[in-house]
Amino acid sequence: MKNELIPFINDIDTLVSEFNEMYQHRLLKKQETKSEKVKKTPLTTEQRKIVFEKTDGLCHVCGCTIDIADFEADHVRPNSQGGTNVVDNFLPACSKCNNYRWNYSPEEIQWILKLGVWLKTKIQVRSEQGLEIAKEFLEDEIKREARRRLPRSPKILSDYSFSILFPIKGKIQNRILEATFEEIEIAKEIIKNFGIENLNSNKLELFHNKIFVLSGESNIKRNEFEKLIESLGGQVKKTLTKNVDFLAIGNFYGLNKVYDVGKINNEKNGNIRIITQGELMKYVC
Ligand SMILES: [Zn+2]
Repeated sequence: MKNELIPFINDIDTLVSEFNEMYQHRLLKKQETKSEKVKKTPLTTEQRKIVFEKTDGLCHVCGCTIDIADFEADHVRPNSQGGTNVVDNFLPACSKCNNYRWNYSPEEIQWILKLGVWLKTKIQVRSEQGLEIAKEFLEDEIKREARRRLPRSPKILSDYSFSILFPIKGKIQNRILEATFEEIEIAKEIIKNFGIENLNSNKLELFHNKIFVLSGESNIKRNEFEKLIESLGGQVKKTLTKNVDFLAIGNFYGLNKVYDVGKINNEKNGNIRIITQGELMKYVC
């Protein structure tokens, strides 16, 4: 098959040696082309304009909008891999993408994208390995930021509001069944009617003899969360009934749970309130 640059690999040693091989191959090519001495004349303003217009002012890697004054002309085929400085070999890129694309070979870029997409999903669904790697990654990010000339202050979750939570239809293993825009809108409407953003309650009153249903994920494992609630005098149930007091939702909460709250409260005279697990966590910890 054409374009199959990445082989199927099923053990770690082969994977590591594949990466090393690609790396060595790239270095060799770099040395080869160095001896050929490709002339590096910068593009003229006119040439840069031609390059810029190839993508209508968008970074050819990520698609972000770039500025004609300071975009980077990315070598489609890197100099070090034998690419030349003709206009045909350039596409406009943002500085981030040009920096990360480096002079990797096509195989390496494909691996980097494949790994990146895989890992991003692992982190997003908070899988155990995903979180472990994310932790290490963030430690490096903190060091990296500190080396910047002007270190930025970190982005923090502004609050425990509903707006940062994402609903799903369900989950099969790690695969998320996405909700449609319309379905999300219905859930938001129900949350608007029965959600409480700020509990402002006394810890004892909040839990004592109250029945909770949890849906979605939070920073604590589900069973630990349940134990904490129970230790404070509350009960945790799996299904929503008229007797439930709170539906506590975390990220990737189930749409159907929220719909059930709407149904029970509207049709069966229920009084279930929806809160975020983040808000609840302020009281259990
Ligand atoms: Zn970009």
